[in-house]
Amino acid sequence: MSQAARHRATFDEARLDPDVTRLVTRLARAGHEAYLVGGCVRDLLLGKAPKDFDVATSARPEDVRAIFRNSRIIGRRFRLVHVMFSNRKVIEVATFRRSPQGEAEQARDEDLLIRSDNAFGTVEEDARRRDFTINALFYDVEDGTILDFCGGMPDIERRAVRTIGEPVTRFLEDPVRLLRAVKFAAKLDLGIDPDVVDAMLATRDQLRLAAKPRLFEEILRLMRGGASRRAMFLAWETGLLHVLLPELAVLLDDVGDDAAPATRVFRLLGELDHRTHQLAAPLDDVILFTVLLFEPLLEACEGEGDRVAAAMEFCQPILERLAVPRRVADGVRRIVALTPKLLSGRSAKARESEHYQAALTVLELHLAARRDKKALARLQGREPLPPARQTLSSGVRGVRPSAPLAWTCPSLPRISRFAPRSVISWAPRCRRTSPRRPPSTATSRCTRSWSGTACCSRRAGSRPAGPSSTAAPA
Ligand code: ATP
Ligand code: MG
Repeated sequence: MSQAARHRATFDEARLDPDVTRLVTRLARAGHEAYLVGGCVRDLLLGKAPKDFDVATSARPEDVRAIFRNSRIIGRRFRLVHVMFSNRKVIEVATFRRSPQGEAEQARDEDLLIRSDNAFGTVEEDARRRDFTINALFYDVEDGTILDFCGGMPDIERRAVRTIGEPVTRFLEDPVRLLRAVKFAAKLDLGIDPDVVDAMLATRDQLRLAAKPRLFEEILRLMRGGASRRAMFLAWETGLLHVLLPELAVLLDDVGDDAAPATRVFRLLGELDHRTHQLAAPLDDVILFTVLLFEPLLEACEGEGDRVAAAMEFCQPILERLAVPRRVADGVRRIVALTPKLLSGRSAKARESEHYQAALTVLELHLAARRDKKALARLQGREPLPPARQTLSSGVRGVRPSAPLAWTCPSLPRISRFAPRSVISWAPRCRRTSPRRPPSTATSRCTRSWSGTACCSRRAGSRPAGPSSTAAPA
């Protein structure tokens, strides 16, 4: 058993939720170890507002249940306790767990993929089973210190995402962590440790082994946090996108001027992020997923007689590959069908559709990304329709940016491609069958500046060269 480093917390305690503080104190008074843990501690240390507060404790679920009458045990395989407060607040209390990959268990396992994760453990074991060092910090409410078993505090200071333990092993255990690395780097504006980037390149194909619903959920999380542009850039640059959504990745490979597909996609994502920040809340999943696929969908429809059918055919393998829930899949199809009607002004009937608002939002973002103020004004009913009917093809694809690009990614033309050929061929219906430049091999070492040492050693507050998570196009 190693000793944890103790650090004085650098955030203001007033930023803690008083209900959570009381909850942890009550557990401690009942003789249990209890800490705030995970995303909330990380976010507070990085100066961000935590999404929610999670508590980890030595108390077993039934002990927690006995202390808090307003609680219930949830989960069958691994039991957690939800403690309910007024105004529908729920705080999750988890008993310390250990990694299932103990020596005996590992010997029985052919591979490293974790299939169950439900053995109780100590606080240190609980820290070590977590994914990244910045997610394994425990805040002790009683004395205001941070308990650090894995070197998370130095990583917070250098603003780096680093796995706990050997990165290849950790990604093989659970490939969804690959996407989590991208998510944290994008939404918190962190660098990724160079060894971790190398491990991501080496293990990205393993994403196919992960449960499809988890992959889909993680993709949505990349889209929700107001940093979708940076997230998709990182996912593309590390080749994860070539595994998950080759249809989109090959568009991003096509870099160039203002009208280049990569520019169009990143500008659309920038508009989405801008809207997310304005609303201070994520948009609906149907909108998020349609926006993500919108540019490839337009390309798939190009020159097709029945554009809606072409779009459906294009979507089908994606929907299957990611086990997209029916609500989202239906939503994408409906929006695609509504798009020409909205653009041509034949929207009287379309207004009755339950997806009308979602379709309108997607088109607003799209036209804003294309800097087509006139079409945007027409769509929003602020300007009369043109005499000729617009179609998905003439209306949307014909639009050219009227203003110079406010944002171009400086590293786009420079960086190397990471998509292995096998990945590209995994997308049978992808129109573009190969990127314009030959992909590098899967084992290539990372040489890019943003994710290399330069990025990880940069001081807090400075930015890497990729698309920024917060700035929106003008
Ligand atoms: P967010 O703010 O996006 O919710 P989070 O860090 O709270 O970030 P969660 O998915 O809510 O992320 O997970 C809570 C904690 O559980 C994480 O901080 C991490 O310590 C641990 N965790 C989550 N997923 C994994 C995983 N796949 N492998 C190991 N640990 C994980
Ligand atoms: Mg969380």
